Amino acid sequence: MHGVDCHLECYVCVRLNSKLKCVCSIEEPPRHKCTTAGETGKDPLLMIESGTEESTADEPRFDISQFGPDIHRILVVAAHPDDLETTCGGTLALLIDTGVEVALLLATDGDIGTHDVSYTRESLATVRREETLAGAHALGLKEVFFLGHHDGELVPDLRLRAEVAHVYRRWQPDTVFTFDPYWHGQAHPDHTAAGRAAVDA
Ligand SMILES: [Zn+2]
Repeated sequence: MHGVDCHLECYVCVRLNSKLKCVCSIEEPPRHKCTTAGETGKDPLLMIESGTEESTADEPRFDISQFGPDIHRILVVAAHPDDLETTCGGTLALLIDTGVEVALLLATDGDIGTHDVSYTRESLATVRREETLAGAHALGLKEVFFLGHHDGELVPDLRLRAEVAHVYRRWQPDTVFTFDPYWHGQAHPDHTAAGRAAVDA
């Protein structure tokens, strides 16, 4: 299990069918190295979104081959629409280019994530699902599993654990990307809940 040195931008990698461990044994971290809130006083997710560094030709490039050849089928367990894209979308795109198959389990519909009062929860959820499918198509994901929980209300209870386990059985991943449920710097309680259910399932 990884800790603050994870280089997957706040996601924890969980290998199935073996002892839980971090698979991102990357010697040269990417530019957005995951850092604890205590070290910076900032939310790491916000750090990722607001990164200002420009890459140069002299910088070592992220080498996707360091993930190893035994990763073939990934499931991303995310809480909200945009979680995948904003935290590990680039990494997944590189892995997909190497032939890895990726699916997304989306726990909530992100149905309160707007200030636009013209939306209802139902109409916003519809838009968020369309956006999620468009993003999945752009990245080359193979499948999206919508659990349909309400945004902000995710609880890692038996129901959620069973729903995640059901998707594990259907998709048969060898690797899972999800939020680290043991890290206290998560930006949203839904992230912690999704990660906890993914690990427990
Ligand atoms: Zn989120």
